[in-house]
Amino acid sequence: MNQFTYAQLPTKVVFGAGMRSRVADEVDALGCERVMLIGTGSPAAAADEAAVAATLGWRLVAHWTEVVQHVPAELAERARELAVETDIDCIVTIGGGSSTGLAKAIALTMRRPIIAIPTTYAGSEQTTIYGITGERHKQTGKSADVLPKVVIYDPELTVGIPAFVTGPSAFNALAHSVEALYAPGCNPITTAMALEGVRAIHSSLAQVMASPADVDARSDLLYGAYLSGVALGQTSAAFHHKICHVLGGTFNLVHADAHSVILPHAIAFLSPALPREMALLAGALGGEPAGALWDLAVASNVPTTLSALGLTEADLQEAAERSVAEVAKIAAPGNPRPCSLDDMLALLRAAFAGTRPTVETSR
Ligand code: NAD
Repeated sequence: MNQFTYAQLPTKVVFGAGMRSRVADEVDALGCERVMLIGTGSPAAAADEAAVAATLGWRLVAHWTEVVQHVPAELAERARELAVETDIDCIVTIGGGSSTGLAKAIALTMRRPIIAIPTTYAGSEQTTIYGITGERHKQTGKSADVLPKVVIYDPELTVGIPAFVTGPSAFNALAHSVEALYAPGCNPITTAMALEGVRAIHSSLAQVMASPADVDARSDLLYGAYLSGVALGQTSAAFHHKICHVLGGTFNLVHADAHSVILPHAIAFLSPALPREMALLAGALGGEPAGALWDLAVASNVPTTLSALGLTEADLQEAAERSVAEVAKIAAPGNPRPCSLDDMLALLRAAFAGTRPTVETSR
């Protein structure tokens, strides 16, 4: 018999090709008229960003294009200064998790509503989680003030994302859904969304990598990423995410790349402790999860070795020590299998070498 609590987060979603044209209507519907637009700074995204700026018209009072993953604290301070100086009453973001993350840092102190137009699959737009990075450490927290009021998903905006961003970003989304199966706060509703998210990503990623301009496949991938973001937002970061946060926050690895490398190995380690969840995941992935995730990574041409991301063998000890410390802070059930320093070192060594993971059959 099911017994659970489920608190739906109050975000309005507008989904579909061309829906970016609705942005000014959504600003008006919130009763706002002084918008700060946060973009990506990427030349490849400049035309789409300029079009959204034009749609906002007279409402646009500040335009910020400098974003950095994991939101350095000094960057957040400078962006907040502009937001205060220009007296904004709304933030519109168009870009990936770094753009959304900077908006969240502003909303955290100024309590201004965010309208997010995500152009990667990171999922930050569906969560109350914020992260700000100081001296080699990423501090994360949760606040209802940072949850976007409106999210506009427009797959046409994603066709220009380069393959080296698309693939790992899809793995970032996959990681949200996979971990939502056992993360603190999981329940039958989040499990249903997570499994649908995994199916949508698994069935569309190869097609998107082969034909990046296929808007139908991009739409399916974005839908999967949306569901995965909700699954993360309704649960919590767990074992795998904590390792990725160490690799990003301490060693400055690209966030999405760390997900694509670590996910198969984290799941191989946790699998013996999660028979029910792994059976569900196997159904969505069409096979044993750790191996299926690794095969998808190889087929999608995403990074599969930590060495390729710039980590050195000498970094592994510190990465393992920090990861064990972070993982130990997670509430049950997000940390389903005790992980010693030796276990973590073995996991990171396998990820460093990039071997196909195998799952222990007995514990
Ligand atoms: P990102 O925002 O840095 O974007 C990755 C790359 O894609 C960048 O080079 C960017 O310029 C490029 N890009 C984005 N849109 C583009 C477009 N339309 N055309 C061409 N290039 C484009 O990275 P990300 O992976 O989206 O987000 C990572 C950040 O988000 C990390 O800091 C991570 O911690 C955070 N995050 C937070 C949450 C949360 O719930 N708070 C969830 C997931 C990720």
